[in-house]
Amino acid sequence: AKEGGSRQHRRYCPELDDRAGEAARLGVEMRMGLDTGQFRMVYQPIVALPEGRTLYVESLVRWQHPERGFVSPADFIPVAEQNGLIVELGEWILRTACAQFMRWREEHGANAPERISVNVSARQLNEPGFVTVVADVLERTGMPASSLIVEVTETAVFGGGTAVQAVKDIHALGVRIALDDFGTGHSSLGLLQTIPVDVLKVDKSFVDNLTMAGRHAVIATALIQVSNGLGLTAVAEGVETAEQAAELHRLGYQLAQGYHFGRPVAEPDFTLTEDQAVPV
Ligand code: C2E
Ligand code: CA
Ligand code: CA
Ligand code: CA
Repeated sequence: AKEGGSRQHRRYCPELDDRAGEAARLGVEMRMGLDTGQFRMVYQPIVALPEGRTLYVESLVRWQHPERGFVSPADFIPVAEQNGLIVELGEWILRTACAQFMRWREEHGANAPERISVNVSARQLNEPGFVTVVADVLERTGMPASSLIVEVTETAVFGGGTAVQAVKDIHALGVRIALDDFGTGHSSLGLLQTIPVDVLKVDKSFVDNLTMAGRHAVIATALIQVSNGLGLTAVAEGVETAEQAAELHRLGYQLAQGYHFGRPVAEPDFTLTEDQAVPV
């Protein structure tokens, strides 16, 4: 009776209801998608400035739905976080990315990327067995721990729970930790004192409009100084133009990622493309 009583005070909101229904449908379809192989991984180069050689790759998941077509991870990752499917999907992502990395090493030798980065969400970090999964994937694929970068966001780590300890444990395995979307959170700098960080991924919002005189360049400069001062590796995200790449190089950035250097694809080209090089 109590439950019924409180229900009467809840106002009907069709928009919310639609969203909940859509999330539930997506959840069921994701479960099926996982079982029938609808997910695949793509890889985007992270290159050295100025010459544009691929040093690392970031792995990004794709979902090709039989009727919906391409579904963006920005839409289905949050749903998978909610319903917990991210745990199974995330494990598949990690195994697939690491296995691919080892194949490239065999096929391309010295031209293969040095490291691969894998995005990991809050729910995964808070899953008790996650560190064991990471260790197991490394062992089974024979991949050196130092070749793996785990990308975490501030929200994932500050969401409470055991995420901070999980990041420390993963780092203790020898895996690199990258702080994703750096500079966009509430206390990005504070987080550098809480978890072990090796790579700062400077968010696209600081790279946009970089070539117009103004605040963006000031912030991008401050961020590279923090990174260098702490002995970290900075990666500028979302570089779309040669002008941005040149400006980042001028500001002291040594690594960049973005459509200018390559979109996420199933098989990136690891041979050096001279046309992408930043003029110096
Ligand atoms: P993110 O980790 O910040 O990934 C970078 C996103 O920016 C990717 O979008 C990438 O395709 C896009 N991007 C790269 N360069 C450029 C550029 O020059 N311009 C523009 N406009 N965009 C660029 P994507 O693949 O759609 O992924 C969106 C988000 O979904 C990711 O943001 C990440 O938060 C999440 N995500 C993607 N794959 C995974 C995954 O395997 N696991 C988890 N947990 N999350 C993932
Ligand atoms: Ca990322
Ligand atoms: Ca990012
Ligand atoms: Ca992002």
